[in-house]
Amino acid sequence: MSDINSIRPVFSVKDFNLWYGDKQVLTDISLEIPEKKVTAIIGPSGSGKSTFIKTLNRMVELAPSVRMEGGIYYKDNNIFDDAHTQVEVLRTEVGMVFQKPNPFPKSIYDNIAYGPSIHGIKDKKILDQVVENSLKGAALWDEVKDRLQANAFSLSGGQQQRLCIARALAVEPEVILMDEPTASLDPLSTAKIEDLVHDLKKDYSIIIVTHNMQQAARVSDKTAFFLNGELIEFDETERIFSNPKDKRTNDYVSGKF
Ligand code: ADP
Ligand code: MG
Repeated sequence: MSDINSIRPVFSVKDFNLWYGDKQVLTDISLEIPEKKVTAIIGPSGSGKSTFIKTLNRMVELAPSVRMEGGIYYKDNNIFDDAHTQVEVLRTEVGMVFQKPNPFPKSIYDNIAYGPSIHGIKDKKILDQVVENSLKGAALWDEVKDRLQANAFSLSGGQQQRLCIARALAVEPEVILMDEPTASLDPLSTAKIEDLVHDLKKDYSIIIVTHNMQQAARVSDKTAFFLNGELIEFDETERIFSNPKDKRTNDYVSGKF
């Protein structure tokens, strides 16, 4: 087995702190997210998981009165240094999928073609190919190939979530952030997304926030445990679930809070 720590990081986070107004929500976070692996973020509600992943593509700045200190590097570029990292480019390379599927009120086809077309792809044949490849990448093509012009809301919740993943894939990201992507789904749809996450890590670096401990254990290579805005422990998933170093991690993964 290759040593996971020898793989170069896609993100390096160094002494990162974040406040909403006067309230500190992330404290001294340092970690390296490995490339082409699945990293799970676990922790109780309010521990800063969503805030942390929204920071990675600078979506957190859309919230009012955010203040940050410390460094976050995407492939060695400081994401807050606009001279090196344009926020639009960062958000293309670092896609996001939310808890509640949020397709556009458009056709299945247009949900996927929209991103590439605003990035300058106008040729219908190329767009057709992007739509097909993205839907295949999200394991949705076979289910929708005969109804690409149907409204996205005609799909089931699980299909809508895979459509949102396909939409993220269409702009050729490197990283996919997923914030509790199966929290609103039934067990069968959840299993399909978990299988998909497993397949996607061949080509993408994935960071998945989950409340579901079995899910973290099933899908991830590394796991970060957040508590009250602090990173308590970050290690190989197997270790976090079988032999964590910190008592608080042990208490959390064994369901004590
Ligand atoms: P989690 O995803 O782990 O449940 P969040 O990152 O959503 O945690 O929230 C962390 C803390 O930040 C919580 O106390 C939450 O109430 C607070 N918070 C989240 N978003 C905002 C915001 N836009 N303005 C002020 N406080 C916020
Ligand atoms: Mg959250």
